[in-house]
Amino acid sequence: MKVLANDGISPSGKQKLEAAGFEVDTTTVAQNQLANYIKENNVSALLVRSATTVRKELMDELNGQLKLIGRGGVGMDNIDVEYARSKGIHVINTPAASSRSVAELVFAHLLGMVRFLFDSNQKMPLEGDTHFKVLKKNYGAGSELKGKTLGIIGFGRIGREVAAMAYGLGMKLAVHDNDPNPVELTIPFADGQSIKTVITPVDFETVLKTSDFISLHVSGAGNALIGKKEIAMMKDRAGIVNTARGGIVDEVDLIAALDEGKLRYAALDVFVNEPNPAMKVLMSPYTSLTPHIGAATMEAQDRIGEELADQIISLLK
Ligand code: NAD
Repeated sequence: MKVLANDGISPSGKQKLEAAGFEVDTTTVAQNQLANYIKENNVSALLVRSATTVRKELMDELNGQLKLIGRGGVGMDNIDVEYARSKGIHVINTPAASSRSVAELVFAHLLGMVRFLFDSNQKMPLEGDTHFKVLKKNYGAGSELKGKTLGIIGFGRIGREVAAMAYGLGMKLAVHDNDPNPVELTIPFADGQSIKTVITPVDFETVLKTSDFISLHVSGAGNALIGKKEIAMMKDRAGIVNTARGGIVDEVDLIAALDEGKLRYAALDVFVNEPNPAMKVLMSPYTSLTPHIGAATMEAQDRIGEELADQIISLLK
């Protein structure tokens, strides 16, 4: 049985599939040639990431040939999922594979922000030899994460990974989720041991009012959860991290709050109008920025490939 991994698959995922007897084709076929290629090469399973779209028209043209569509990653906006399922095509994804990667990026931003690394990394190459003492003074009032309260809004897969890491750094937590039920959190260590704790979500306003930093991890559409009104409730000089979806924090209100000094810094991995974020956001001196790379680690790619392989083997073998 042939699998076309049109947007690539990790070597470990490919190996797993091949060991189970699947043929894996990693050719990147142009969108408009996909239907012909799949027909001519007798492909039964199509794996995509975000680049390839799998719409109703493609499935109709293939007339029952595809048995499975797999999305490496979380969102399935590029697949007509309901239509595929109504035609008996399995649709799978790997929602948990990149949670740890996103959580680690949150702390990369947080640890960088509290020591102004985002700014210092830009100024040192330009002024490090001429204004060393000035820069030392400018970045000399950093702070530690230990003892600070991290607000987590959205306590699903990524929110929980963030909480586990926050414990390791000695942070306090204020967690909010639509689901108010307590969550048992397991914090694993490299030696195989782990500890368990129970976290009870609090209301949204409590998180806003008590957190030194707020990290957003809600699912769903990008309606603004945090705008002017919510920022006004936050502690003065707090920080915000958004790795969830562009627009969950209102960018105009955020930049205004940073410029006014109400908030001290913000980290953004996701933006309104990607891949053309607003210049005002990109140019702010108070923002730590990454181009939507939360899930993009080698380890996550391996887990994505292996999880897809396991699911394909169990569904199609
Ligand atoms: P998840 O579904 O496991 O958890 C989301 C949680 O948010 C759920 O517990 C849900 O109850 C809660 N929630 C939803 N709307 C809420 C609201 N309005 N208020 C409070 N709680 C709410 O999702 P996840 O895998 O943890 O992903 C979280 C977010 O991260 C998603 O938006 C996803 O798109 C994003 N993400 C970003 C990257 C990246 O590269 N930056 C990578 C993966 C996922």
